[in-house]
Amino acid sequence: MNHPKRLFAGVAVLALAASGAVVAVHVRRGEEPPPGLGAAAVVEATPSASPTVADAARKQAVDAVLARRSTAVLAGDLKGFMAPVDPKQTELVARQRLLFTNLRKFGLSSLKYFTADAFRPVPGLVGKFGPTTFSTRVMMRYQLSGLDPRPVQTDLGYTFVQRAGTWVLVDDTGTDENLSQDGHRQPWDFDEVQVVRRGSVVVVVDKREASLGTKVAQVAEKAVKSVRKHWARPWNGAVLVVAMPQERVMSTLWTAGSGDGWTIAAKAVTLFEGEQLGKPAGRPIGSRIVVNPALRKRLDKDLLVHEMTHVATATLGLNAPIWAVEGLAEYVRCRAIEDDPHWTVDPYRKRVKSQYLAKLTTLPDQSVFAADADRAYGTSWWITEYLADKLGEKKLATLYTDLSVHGESVLKKDTGLTATQIAAGAKKFKG
Ligand SMILES: [Zn+2]
Repeated sequence: MNHPKRLFAGVAVLALAASGAVVAVHVRRGEEPPPGLGAAAVVEATPSASPTVADAARKQAVDAVLARRSTAVLAGDLKGFMAPVDPKQTELVARQRLLFTNLRKFGLSSLKYFTADAFRPVPGLVGKFGPTTFSTRVMMRYQLSGLDPRPVQTDLGYTFVQRAGTWVLVDDTGTDENLSQDGHRQPWDFDEVQVVRRGSVVVVVDKREASLGTKVAQVAEKAVKSVRKHWARPWNGAVLVVAMPQERVMSTLWTAGSGDGWTIAAKAVTLFEGEQLGKPAGRPIGSRIVVNPALRKRLDKDLLVHEMTHVATATLGLNAPIWAVEGLAEYVRCRAIEDDPHWTVDPYRKRVKSQYLAKLTTLPDQSVFAADADRAYGTSWWITEYLADKLGEKKLATLYTDLSVHGESVLKKDTGLTATQIAAGAKKFKG
């Protein structure tokens, strides 16, 4: 028997997409549009061609202040963390205290703050704080306990002044426009959070919505099990799910596509080893799942299964074509739904067969995803079903891993078929 309510949930992504609304997507930050400001244009090393001795001394002194603050966070030493904060800046003091509180809740296994490029002097800040005012990008290199296998990084914009021989933090927001897309927009940069850990899953919600955190964690834990069942390679299930009410956490935009576009329900955001200004550098380390704030209370397991498939595969490499990336996530999602004998994705199947397959001639690329997301996701799912039927889940995982590392050139070797033959085979595949 089909349970109407759950059946709807099972095809929620599609059903809502059809009414112009919801699709889950996978975003690597490097693929997103660049920050509104050409960041490089407003950032420069120093006004002079080469750093002076004074610049170097200042950098060294500020780095020492930042290093003490990193140590203070790890040690739970609020006093040490607040020591360089100007007590007269009451809003800054409140934000910094909150930052400390939140960071302690996340639990960090490593943390290092250090200066990166200096910003051009900001007239408003120099006017307010005087001639020694120094604004700089601060890198936060960190690992969340139980989540990040290696350090990842994000950036902040801090302004210091020199007083009585020491550097005092006087501002932490006035240079935000120079930061990378999600700089100073991490989950700990907004209101007080509640961090819920359950198994390998970590969920972060607003402190006032603690019960939502418990609920999401339960659902997320089940989603991890489903992914592990159908993704035939090892995955430790460590994932951070952000389900906060604030719109700009991780700088996510919740519409995409062309024309009126569609609303995105959740994103898996990949983090890279050495990321600056929103451009990936180095190898992918892991992912966060960010849930659309408007939909956080209606989050279902299916959506998380889709996103977690992206998380489970994110560190393999960046070369898998989009049809394989989204097709695999949809494949695992649909299999997870049908693991429950009371559930089916038949309406989805019917829609793909009756509406989308007629147009299938080549494997869907970025342009198909931008122009018609429903068709692109549905078709990619069906292609993956076809490949799973042909290869089995183990070889499907091998193929996906190979695609992630080498790109589409491995298709023939791993499947015996060309891209055109795969498209033709999927078109005829009955399921
Ligand atoms: Zn996706």
